[in-house]
Amino acid sequence: MTLDQGRWLRIPGPTPLHPRVVAAMQREMIPHRGAAMQQLFDGMLRKARQVHRTDDYVFVWPGTGSAGWEAAIVNLLSPGDRVVATVCGDFGDRFAGLGERFGLNVTRASVPWGQAVSADVFASALESASDVKAVFITHNETSTGVTNPLAELGSLARDAGALVIVDAVSSAAGLPLEMDGWGLDWVISGSQKAWMCPPGLMISGVSERAVSAAAESGYPRFFWDVRSMVMSTAAGSTPSTPPLSLLFAFDAALDAILEEGVEQVWQRHARLGAHMRAGLSDLGLDLFAHPNIASDTVTAFLPPGGMTASELRDAVRSDSGIEIAVGQGEYADRVNRVGHMGWTAVPELDATVASIARGVDASTSQGTVSAQLRA
Ligand code: PLP
Repeated sequence: MTLDQGRWLRIPGPTPLHPRVVAAMQREMIPHRGAAMQQLFDGMLRKARQVHRTDDYVFVWPGTGSAGWEAAIVNLLSPGDRVVATVCGDFGDRFAGLGERFGLNVTRASVPWGQAVSADVFASALESASDVKAVFITHNETSTGVTNPLAELGSLARDAGALVIVDAVSSAAGLPLEMDGWGLDWVISGSQKAWMCPPGLMISGVSERAVSAAAESGYPRFFWDVRSMVMSTAAGSTPSTPPLSLLFAFDAALDAILEEGVEQVWQRHARLGAHMRAGLSDLGLDLFAHPNIASDTVTAFLPPGGMTASELRDAVRSDSGIEIAVGQGEYADRVNRVGHMGWTAVPELDATVASIARGVDASTSQGTVSAQLRA
């Protein structure tokens, strides 16, 4: 069992690469303007729209998830605009903070880490802010392993007349996500998560409504200008040189997802999430999020008493080579996280749970936790 096998990488991104992705990345370059690119690009975006469940647009830029935050802001908003942002962990906090840096008037719909932003909390933030131009919703808070009720929050935001900007970085292609059905305007994700690709591609589902809003934005923009992207995409390419190997990778990942079936992929993640939570609970470890709001792409749990998160991470690493993650922000050393998104199956999760059990035993010199697992 070595890290070379990738599937032992149990951090919540970068995730193991799908074998078809690895193969696709061996391809030679092609001209980025012309028939070969157009064919690849049109097909890739058509498939990406199917996975996002939208008839509007999906665009790709070289970049990562945080670049998606910035792209959405500069295209849809103007300095001073009011936005409501869900904050239930580190990524929601960063997104809200970025809005402030851009001079937006940000109202935070905050709850303690480990909880989800409920419809009530979100509705009162929308009411208190008034005249809200857009909302930032973190669909899946990777730092705490919590999934927010996106459909409900999105609908409240639409009722308030706001544009719905969604951080789907650790949910897209893993958790149920209905861009058109739930009225979402800008859905951000990054290739290194459930898309089973290397880092480097920022993927954005964009509604017609968002493209219209881009004409009104008061921010200067060049690289992220969605209007250039609309024009180039219609002509079968991107405004600047695309990261071709990542496009080959993303196209292959989309094929794998569509062959499995979008809903089947969601169901597989639901099974993996439940399996991971059950495995950790069987060891007597406490889960950070309540099962009703627990994420099916990343599980956060507390290391046993007397152990820090980095001690447990290191113990697992030396036991098996499996890489699990620690927490973020003030929970950095109080919470461990295990990723189970993308190219992932039950045997790797079982191996991870078994290694966590041995890691706990090794550090407590008791041998009781792994015995519990064998029982
Ligand atoms: N949003 C969420 C929910 C994330 O999990 C991450 C990264 O893990 C980001 C945003 C930032 O993405 P990136 O590191 O790709 O910029």
